[in-house]
Amino acid sequence: MTLAAIFIAGILAAGAGAEDGDVLFQASTIDALLEGVYDGDVTFSELGEHGDFGIGTVNALDGEMIALDGQFYQIRTDGKVYPVEEEKKTPFAAVTFFGADRTEEIRDIGGIEELERVLDGMLPSRNIFYAIRIDGEFDYIKTRSVPRQERPYPPLADVVKEQTVFELRGVKGTIAGFWCPAYVKGIGVPEYHLHFIAADRSAGGHLLDCRVKEAVCGIDDTGRFYMALPGTVDFLKTDLSGERSGALKKVEK
Ligand SMILES: [Zn+2]
Repeated sequence: MTLAAIFIAGILAAGAGAEDGDVLFQASTIDALLEGVYDGDVTFSELGEHGDFGIGTVNALDGEMIALDGQFYQIRTDGKVYPVEEEKKTPFAAVTFFGADRTEEIRDIGGIEELERVLDGMLPSRNIFYAIRIDGEFDYIKTRSVPRQERPYPPLADVVKEQTVFELRGVKGTIAGFWCPAYVKGIGVPEYHLHFIAADRSAGGHLLDCRVKEAVCGIDDTGRFYMALPGTVDFLKTDLSGERSGALKKVEK
């Protein structure tokens, strides 16, 4: 058998996430966020019922969100990490209950593209979802956060022009996020969407680049996807029929 065939045999034996009940729970759609729908109706307390791990943002687009071990954190443009109060809401988030189906030690990785190629080798199929958690030491981390917005909300591509970029060197911490199949286009972020938080919870954000010294990478195969759409007027009235792949590339990279 080829390596891919062995991987897939492993997934089939383990029940591909679909049978082991792993669900990626997502609030709203990425295209709604791109269009400036920055207020959702799912509270962080509700989000916590659907996962202890994940990424997203907070209402009014108030920074980058990362959830680890049931704790929800928000990284604002001041670069600081804040716990997210349970009553706050999210306009876009993806969470799951994380349990690695496989782990691998990785080291001496020179950049985000190299990391993505290494991770590619750990994903047995490009047709299911994966939660990814990388704990370790990083020679370099580059993240960004976005500034809290006031109504009327501008589109995300305009907000990202005002993003704040952070660079960290010699930092311990965790990269967390998801890999989604190409067919989620419009709903979620195809391929990798990763956030970072420092082990001492002093810094973090949406991951733009990194160099890995040594780390353990866990992959959670996820065969179910649940989407909770906002019942807000903003969401219901926004025209989401267009094609936004180009805009998405600009905001995520
Ligand atoms: Zn992000």
